[in-house]
Amino acid sequence: MATWPVIGHEWATDLLARAITGPAQTGGERRLSHAYLFTGPAQVGKTTLARAFAQAILCETQAGTPCGACRVCQRIAAGRYPDVQLVIAEKNTIQIDQVRALQIAAALSPLEGAYRIFIIREIERATPPAANALLKTLEEPPPQVILLLTSAHRDQLLPTILSRCQIIGLRPTPLGQIQAALETHWGVDPARAALLARLSAGRLGWAVNAHTDPELWQARAKRLDDLLALTAAGRLGRLAYTETLSRQGDAIERTLGLWATWWRDVLLVQQGLAAEIVNLDRRVQLAQQADLYRPEQVEAALEDLIQTLRRLRANVNARLALDVLALRLPRPAVV
Ligand SMILES: [Zn+2]
Repeated sequence: MATWPVIGHEWATDLLARAITGPAQTGGERRLSHAYLFTGPAQVGKTTLARAFAQAILCETQAGTPCGACRVCQRIAAGRYPDVQLVIAEKNTIQIDQVRALQIAAALSPLEGAYRIFIIREIERATPPAANALLKTLEEPPPQVILLLTSAHRDQLLPTILSRCQIIGLRPTPLGQIQAALETHWGVDPARAALLARLSAGRLGWAVNAHTDPELWQARAKRLDDLLALTAAGRLGRLAYTETLSRQGDAIERTLGLWATWWRDVLLVQQGLAAEIVNLDRRVQLAQQADLYRPEQVEAALEDLIQTLRRLRANVNARLALDVLALRLPRPAVV
């Protein structure tokens, strides 16, 4: 039997498959909604699942599972099936023109299959006019249209959009499953697969990107090195760094998130839980760091990072928040 081209999220694929085939006792009547919203952390697999769902709905086998082999499944996977359209942010926002184009296409009959399916990624990036226009389609969807939305920021969406969608909330995938998938499907050696799995925090897309994109990997190394350099730097050095960092947009959150894993690891080493650390490739350095700080300092640094991330998400002035963070970074207590 064919399986979904998705790692983890079994409950979601089961639920979606049942929506396609319908429960056996009703004679297999379809129970598809007109709109689904896939939520969950960035790179956890939302778009992958949405695309697989589109395949499952339109697959020639009509088995409730994408066969992966038919012409429909293959063309959807390649982004070349005319009734499945991907809408992504242009210049960081989803604009009203994009929604209008979608509405024009949605009003037409499907070209080949039974449905026209639109996958709209990162719906929180819709401008207010675009979100309101989309709302109209969600309220009165043409019968042959299915909208699959994704968002890593459910809290930023209009309640009216949320209420019109069936919400599929994806959780991080268990690390063992990610490690096994990296070894089996991407040929990653076990030690590196274990490291990537832990760093991924359960987001397979992140792990695969980190494996295939050396730049991403180098960026991680640089961010960790920067943190160590910052703890040794004076006030001016720290502020000069945050001036640069504050202009890096989305990368700010990635930097702070990585730093949080670092302080958490230092704390774990201090508590004799070194087996639990995430940054497995930096064991030696983490052990050194654990000796340099008092646990209260590390706890405070971690708390500061979490606070700063919260402030940034609340749209406070990034420069200001980062300056405060940098100036409060601990200095080694023991030399
Ligand atoms: Zn198929």
